[in-house]
Amino acid sequence: MTEAADPATVLVVEDDRSLSAALAATLKAAGYRPVSAGSAAEGLRWFAHYAPDLVLLDLGLPDRDGLSVIREIRQRSPTPIVVLSARNAEAAKVEALDLGADDYVAKPFGVEELLARVRAGLRHGVQVRGSTPAVRVGDVEIDLGLRTVKRRGEPVKLTPKEYDVLCELALNGGRAVSHGQLLRAVWGSEKADVQYLRVYVGYLRHKLGETLFESVPRVGYRLVID
Ligand code: CA
Repeated sequence: MTEAADPATVLVVEDDRSLSAALAATLKAAGYRPVSAGSAAEGLRWFAHYAPDLVLLDLGLPDRDGLSVIREIRQRSPTPIVVLSARNAEAAKVEALDLGADDYVAKPFGVEELLARVRAGLRHGVQVRGSTPAVRVGDVEIDLGLRTVKRRGEPVKLTPKEYDVLCELALNGGRAVSHGQLLRAVWGSEKADVQYLRVYVGYLRHKLGETLFESVPRVGYRLVID
């Protein structure tokens, strides 16, 4: 596997700049590729952009609660999440784990402890990837762990948003998925402009075949599976 040779990308979502810089330096020295975000919004943007191998997530963020970030990442990906937080309360820890975080490190933590959690998280991630089934729709195959798409065995390059739209449809089999559900899954709010969907489904039709995507009038879209 090429992943063994490539450094693992670790997304650090932390608004404390000095801690964030220290984490990035620590991760880099340990052979990882760190990507830093200072808010929940930036974290989710970089998550979609870099498809990191692991996320280190602070719960106390300036724009949104870190717990909502866990929820949003889990809707679309099994990427391991290690929560960093000063909140030592058992309730917050349990809530983070219930939402799908893989591990929890209480601040202040030592470098060795943190790196041990990162290693454990990445091992877990590889297992998740290895066991994640590929979804096959007609001549299109989607690897949900690696976020890659092939058509007739040939890799097709999709943008993160195109991938997310395709994935949401594929995970619903051939069932119609409403505009609201798609907008919520991909743009985080069903108030997002429904025109976005029209545009992205257009791109997907161009890349993966006109007939794969069916518009369901006044409802949304479905994949034509057979
Ligand atoms: Ca914070």
